[in-house]
Amino acid sequence: MNIKPVLVIGGGISGVTSAVEIAEVGKEVILIEKNPYLGGNVVKFNNYFPKLCPPTCGLEINFRRIKQNPRIKYFTSTEVIEVTGEKGDFKVKMKTKPQYIKNNCTACGKCAEVCPEERPNEFNYGFTNTKAAYLPHEMAFPYKFQIDDEFCKKEACNKCVEACEYNAIDLSAKEEISEIEVSSIIIATGWKNYDASKIENLNYSNSQNIITNVEFERFIASNGLNENKLLRLSDNTEPKKIAFVQCAGSRDENHLPYCSAVCCSASLKHALTIQELYPEAEVKIFYIDMRVAGRNEDFLVKVQENKNIELVKGKVGKISETENNNLILEAEDILSGKKIKYEAEMAILATGIVPSDIKFDLNKDQNQFITDLQKDGIIPVACSRKPMDVSSSVKDATAAAVKAIQIS
Ligand SMILES: Cc1cc2nc3c(=O)[nH]c(=O)nc-3n(C[C@H](O)[C@H](O)[C@H](O)COP(=O)(O)OP(=O)(O)OC[C@H]3O[C@@H](n4cnc5c(N)ncnc54)[C@H](O)[C@@H]3O)c2cc1C
Repeated sequence: MNIKPVLVIGGGISGVTSAVEIAEVGKEVILIEKNPYLGGNVVKFNNYFPKLCPPTCGLEINFRRIKQNPRIKYFTSTEVIEVTGEKGDFKVKMKTKPQYIKNNCTACGKCAEVCPEERPNEFNYGFTNTKAAYLPHEMAFPYKFQIDDEFCKKEACNKCVEACEYNAIDLSAKEEISEIEVSSIIIATGWKNYDASKIENLNYSNSQNIITNVEFERFIASNGLNENKLLRLSDNTEPKKIAFVQCAGSRDENHLPYCSAVCCSASLKHALTIQELYPEAEVKIFYIDMRVAGRNEDFLVKVQENKNIELVKGKVGKISETENNNLILEAEDILSGKKIKYEAEMAILATGIVPSDIKFDLNKDQNQFITDLQKDGIIPVACSRKPMDVSSSVKDATAAAVKAIQIS
């Protein structure tokens, strides 16, 4: 076996899975994540199908496996900037953001109490703020505070340093460039949401009451914007009529020509969540085709049986806003052949997923998904190579682990 470690880039559910599987058969692993915490997109969810588990379910066990296994070294706030060499012998240059908060941080929160600066909270897609000294979220792994470089006034303020009883803050910390040698590279960089502002006819940029599917997860999550309540941003009221717009930009040559595979199941999950919280609310789901697979078929049956959720087969062509910030959705109901205008109080766009950005050269298809091959020592997994759900991502990541340890 090649004694050089395997590099895993991306610390979402798939990267974490590959890392623990490789380490537990006895090989060294280096796991790199650009965020200050592991867990990827899944940690931001309210819950996840098929079992509707909380987001930490599955991740927590893996974090424990990481903590217990000295063969895994992980670097957060880190990105790869250059890869040279070849299968079995790669040289990798990586850049780590300044680590102002050291690992002896106890997350007591005194730094945030005295911090005078605020920043948009990326965990809630900028809908809320945190202090410049902040805990990314309450289940963050590693569980330590961070300091946002862009908003902290550093030594000119110094209040957090004075408040920290553990001497855990070093505001003079610098960005670090380091080099490692690895045998193979698993790319588990996952996805980001398609930019809804590009779908101009759906008016996302001009109405506070049009949100995306990923934003919905943060709106409704118990640790999100409103603690298990759905509130409109325009007036803080609970909407009684809610519309879901499927394939918002997906399967559309002007935006994303492909299907993102998970959006139909996600919207069914979201519609059922609304019904659980607000049984009297009226929900309409506008769709082109309902694409659900495996156990998610149960959601479709539940939705079809719910008298307050209506599935309308028709693509929404336009959304406009009324004076009282309601929304008029225009679509053609394909089954009845009628053009309809539906007034909703909130609309949720099922925007598709696009591959994350990577700062070094890789082979990609026309949609930017990675196409490198095991034979070259670079193994893309899960959503970095095509859209898929968590269960398929975990299987893909385990398969990638087996492939990576074979490379010598
Ligand atoms: C609205 C919505 C709801 C969904 N709900 C469900 C659900 O209920 N159930 C389900 O099974 N699936 C669901 N999915 C799909 C699920 O999100 C994916 O299957 C899952 O996130 C895939 O995990 P991943 O680790 O491959 O990618 P990600 O979760 O995207 O993780 C990738 C990680 O890589 C990091 N990264 C990215 N680029 C770099 C880089 N250059 N360097 C270092 N690190 C990098 C990211 O910061 C991130 O931490 C949903 C998707 C959407 C859009």
